[in-house]
Amino acid sequence: MANFETVEVKTDLLILGGGFSACGVATEAAYWAKKNGLKVTLVDKAALDRSGAVAMGLSAINQYVGIKDGENTAEDYVRYVRQDLMGVSREDLVYNIARHVDSTVHLFEKWGLKIWTDEEGKYVHEGRWQLMINGESYKIIIAEAAKNAIADAGGEIYERIFIVEPLLDGNKCVGAVGFSTREEKIYVFKAKATVATMGGAVHVFRPRSVGEGFGRSWYPPFNTGSSAYFTIRAGAEMTCQEVRFIPVRFKDAYGPVGAWFLLFKSRAISAEGGEYMAVRKDELNNWAPYGLAKPIPANLRNYLGMLDVDAGLGPLYMETSEAIANIAQAYKDDPKAFKKKMKELEAEAWEDFLDMTISQAHLWAAQNVKPEEKHSEIAACEPYFIGSHSGASGAWVSGPEDMDTPYKWGYNNMTTVEGLFAAGDASGASSHKFSSGSHAEGRIAGKAAIKYIVEKGAEPNLDAAKVDAVKAKILAPLDRYKEFCKLTTAPEINPNYLLWRQFMDRLQKIMDEYAGGVTAAFKTSKSNLERAMELLAFLKEDSEKLAAADIYSLERCWENIQRMWQGEAHVRTMLFREETRWPGYYFRADTPKMDEQNWHCFANCRWNPANGEWEMSKKDIWNIPGV
Ligand SMILES: Cc1cc2nc3c(=O)[nH]c(=O)nc-3n(C[C@H](O)[C@H](O)[C@H](O)COP(=O)(O)OP(=O)(O)OC[C@H]3O[C@@H](n4cnc5c(N)ncnc54)[C@H](O)[C@@H]3O)c2cc1C
Repeated sequence: MANFETVEVKTDLLILGGGFSACGVATEAAYWAKKNGLKVTLVDKAALDRSGAVAMGLSAINQYVGIKDGENTAEDYVRYVRQDLMGVSREDLVYNIARHVDSTVHLFEKWGLKIWTDEEGKYVHEGRWQLMINGESYKIIIAEAAKNAIADAGGEIYERIFIVEPLLDGNKCVGAVGFSTREEKIYVFKAKATVATMGGAVHVFRPRSVGEGFGRSWYPPFNTGSSAYFTIRAGAEMTCQEVRFIPVRFKDAYGPVGAWFLLFKSRAISAEGGEYMAVRKDELNNWAPYGLAKPIPANLRNYLGMLDVDAGLGPLYMETSEAIANIAQAYKDDPKAFKKKMKELEAEAWEDFLDMTISQAHLWAAQNVKPEEKHSEIAACEPYFIGSHSGASGAWVSGPEDMDTPYKWGYNNMTTVEGLFAAGDASGASSHKFSSGSHAEGRIAGKAAIKYIVEKGAEPNLDAAKVDAVKAKILAPLDRYKEFCKLTTAPEINPNYLLWRQFMDRLQKIMDEYAGGVTAAFKTSKSNLERAMELLAFLKEDSEKLAAADIYSLERCWENIQRMWQGEAHVRTMLFREETRWPGYYFRADTPKMDEQNWHCFANCRWNPANGEWEMSKKDIWNIPGV
């Protein structure tokens, strides 16, 4: 086995990940840990200040309910999420987050985040639930509060440690194993409770950006399915693994469209000028009741655009110049005010990108796009797994203690594995939490995890032989490379192993072509999914032949194994759900209609660590009475 130093860390609460939900867990848990004399340890694969989906910053907080000002209620938010997810959401979880999220946003402001306000001092809304922010440093501000909380409670933060496997004691999670991405060190974390918050997954599917654009994607390339892998491998029940997210964004640099649609009230059109949301309105009847209610679900909006593309009416465009002109129209009689307004709108348009997707500003500059003069191309991105946004995949977690929900078996946000909690992208069926809701859910999970430790937390019981086996497995690609690399003149061509890039290309090709990726126009079928399963089985066999020349490649190997597991859970669940419920995210051509009678339910899956078998199950949907 590669000669890595083993570092053992003992803690009470282990937080895996350093993103928005992890910062929420840390801030809340540290407070309760300090009161109870417990230790909190956070482990991130990157540097906390700029890690996760908010690394580059954001231009809006997407979940703010506005309860104190009587703007909306938590029940309103439940109705909104139910509608957007075509009826499939865990209303107990959504409600729980919605009733706590405003206080999280107020904390953000207290910690220094600039939320836009109008002349009366009221928050400037982008849409009903969204607040505009100066968000370039959003992550740094929220990370600073988490760091301070952990330091105040005497806890520890480990950065640049890539977490791979859970440590189990029967059906109980007792820690995790990972390795340093900089030094030859393997880390064994032993904990009484663990919270998985390692984000969602990208590059499971072949991206649109290949060749010179490779690495660009809407979702950040450094979240690789670690949450899904960790919870699946621990034996946790998973939910909504079929509910991927496909955003429509500015093409090739994946710039955000929210400000254009919501703030600037822009239209999206085909190359022929037809506004697909108007031209194809009748199609929405086929997806009633959701297609006929407002707001129209994100997947259906995508779908209408995709129908235009299928009909050869692409490219699709965002009518930026028209939207800017419409707003400036109000100032047309005053040339000075008109000029000033145009400048202001232009600045807002660019700032939206500079706050969160700088490469889109580069691309506009490179292609001489002036948004006030010319429209700009938009397109549906490749599929992502992001349970905190408009997707829903994640672990099946226990509901709030004080609600009469049927989904309750333990502490709030605990998975079906004892001592293992999940939040943010890692917890499923509670979409539309976004940055603020993920932080709020983190706080909920953090508090519950400390309560679990206080009431039930026993010293972690670890089998040393099992820990050694996990360590050997993690480092095996390095050993394999060393053993065989000299047998061929070109190290990348070797009958004894394959390298991470070859493995990833194969995974992405399978997912893209058979599981409804971009080149398959987001369509799949039973036969295609079964073929995907056959090919994934070969890929899984070959994952044991991965080789790595160095630590960097070792990380890439494990990232792609994790992606493969996310891909497998996805394919299995799409196969299981014999209907099309989210056209615009994926379309099952052999079951092209929604089937409310048989499939208005959650589709759950579980990989059994004891025998390596997958179990699929349906779970009833519970609506909050009267909502
Ligand atoms: C492009 C994009 C735009 C968005 N726009 C908005 C917006 O405008 N407004 C809004 O409110 N929300 C927005 N969101 C949503 C918001 O970013 C997410 O909801 C939120 O970041 C989810 O929090 P999380 O903690 O689950 O994941 P993340 O914040 O992504 O954090 C994941 C963490 O896990 C770490 N990690 C990953 N793998 C490992 C591993 N193996 N070992 C250790 N650590 C690991 C990462 O380094 C990171 O620290 C956007 C998301 C995306 C992708």
